[in-house]
Amino acid sequence: MATIGFIGLGQMGQPMARRLIDAGHAVRVHDVVEDAMQPLVAAGATGCPDAADAATGAEFVITMLPNGTLVERALFGERGAAQGLEPGSLVIDMSTVHPFETDALIARMAGAGFSMMDCPVGRTSEAAKTGSLLLLAGGTPDQIERAEPVLRCMGSEMVVAGGPGMGIRVKLVNNYMSIALNALSAEAATLCEGLGLPFATALEVMQGTPAGRGHFTTTWPAKVLQNDLTPSFKLDLAHKDLGLALDVANQLHVTLPMGAAARESYNQARARGRGGQDWTALLAHLREASGLS
Ligand code: NAD
Repeated sequence: MATIGFIGLGQMGQPMARRLIDAGHAVRVHDVVEDAMQPLVAAGATGCPDAADAATGAEFVITMLPNGTLVERALFGERGAAQGLEPGSLVIDMSTVHPFETDALIARMAGAGFSMMDCPVGRTSEAAKTGSLLLLAGGTPDQIERAEPVLRCMGSEMVVAGGPGMGIRVKLVNNYMSIALNALSAEAATLCEGLGLPFATALEVMQGTPAGRGHFTTTWPAKVLQNDLTPSFKLDLAHKDLGLALDVANQLHVTLPMGAAARESYNQARARGRGGQDWTALLAHLREASGLS
């Protein structure tokens, strides 16, 4: 069993630290809100007045804080963890922060002679209570091997995203997709209602099409991911169909901002001569527009 410093005992950190205590680890907890430490101290943790104290004698130091500025403060601020860390200890930031902040913190830790990796999590505080978080680990093979038994106390599924900083990158991409898709889904449901179409009917149809199943596993593997842009469904026709939806929404006073933005992407792809290509060429267009091809 390990000694673990745990910093940040909010909605997520509280149940995560509790899982570590229940697994038998010696947990040294710290939060700027003193009351947040009490239930964990009652469960067997050691309450610490600052992050440096929480890191003292710890093999692992975990941060679970609202943003990168606070992670930096907890690690490098006055009486921050860096002042208590042992040379062999491993810092694991599990917060959701800006990936470039993660890179900078990992580099700064390395400069100070300490090892740091990232492991943000998916799912909610309910999953944190039951130890069923989705763990998105970014670290060297050595760091991951060392951290895994501790991380597994808090999560039921672990994805090794790659080297240090890759956990937070996969979290960012996943969140971008699911958050933007939430907005697009709301538009589809609103259009449905505006048209007087039962949502259940739309749902039934969309469950079997790329609308509901997503493009990554349906339209893309056979076409753009194979560098095959010969049309199964022409980008011009997708642009036309999107225009039909936007026109009817306009007449119904239904607002579709994501759809309007998507039409601009299709417009640009057509302007660059991709209208006759497969609609999945939208990926090729965006890569080109972003200087990635
Ligand atoms: P929270 O606001 O409930 O908790 C943050 C805790 O950090 C608070 O107790 C606060 O007092 C403490 N804190 C702030 N600054 C501190 C410092 N310098 N030193 C010590 N303690 C400090 O936030 P949360 O919901 O637990 O989220 C934590 C992180 O997990 C965030 O980055 C969030 O984006 C991410 N996350 C949250 C969820 C969720 O469902 N809540 C899911 C996945 C990821």
